[in-house]
Amino acid sequence: MKIVIIGGGPCGLGAAWRAEEIRRQGNQTIDWTLVETSADAGGLARTVVDEQGFLWDMGGHVIFSHYAYFTRLLDYLLPNPADWNSKIREAWVWMRGTFIPYPLQQNLHRLPKHEIVACIDGLLENERRRSSFTKPATFADWMEQSFGRGLCDTFMRPYNFKVWAYTADKMNVEWMGERVATVNLSRIIHNVILGKDELG
Ligand SMILES: Cc1cc2nc3c(=O)[nH]c(=O)nc-3n(C[C@H](O)[C@H](O)[C@H](O)COP(=O)(O)OP(=O)(O)OC[C@H]3O[C@@H](n4cnc5c(N)ncnc54)[C@H](O)[C@@H]3O)c2cc1C
Repeated sequence: MKIVIIGGGPCGLGAAWRAEEIRRQGNQTIDWTLVETSADAGGLARTVVDEQGFLWDMGGHVIFSHYAYFTRLLDYLLPNPADWNSKIREAWVWMRGTFIPYPLQQNLHRLPKHEIVACIDGLLENERRRSSFTKPATFADWMEQSFGRGLCDTFMRPYNFKVWAYTADKMNVEWMGERVATVNLSRIIHNVILGKDELG
């Protein structure tokens, strides 16, 4: 079987890796070629080194894996711990005149009290109504079912509009995967009562 893979970004490289793996497992009919228009592989995930030695990430700068196959492959390709720079995510949201750690929903105690109440009210309302929820058709529906009205009004809706430049009712839910952190109600309430930050 002849396979032509167009582009040597992460997808193309992954496809080539898998094709070669299958070939070496005994399927000698596989005959793949990867074509890349640039001088270097990596696509938007490549890093360019300039004359001064500075590293420029064209796009991707963080890797997160939820797939054992992908994790194994990365460990195989970069076996040396020194190849990795592991970090706990620390991102802060500037709003209401203060910094709030992200994911914001875990750190509501930093909001004004009336907004904390609205956010928790929305989450509790969702718990009451959960059995009547139908499959969300849009990202807006998904957000409301996941975070409740209070959190959507305070943060999720304006934040996601800023990120995607589209209103959530114009977006579907197929793209999300594990990209949007969801909620743990018990931890949210603990953190509010204890005034505790939770990063990551
Ligand atoms: C600013 C930014 C930040 C990002 N941050 C992250 C991050 O932190 N973590 C993360 O996981 N992802 C991140 N991403 C996303 C990640 O970079 C992309 O999802 C990933 O690079 C997509 O891989 P791809 O192979 O589909 O496409 P691309 O990386 O775009 O690769 C496509 C390749 O195909 C080549 N090509 C195109 N047309 C042709 C042609 N006709 N013939 C031959 N070759 C062709 C291109 O030259 C390129 O090398 C970021 C993206 C951007 C833009």
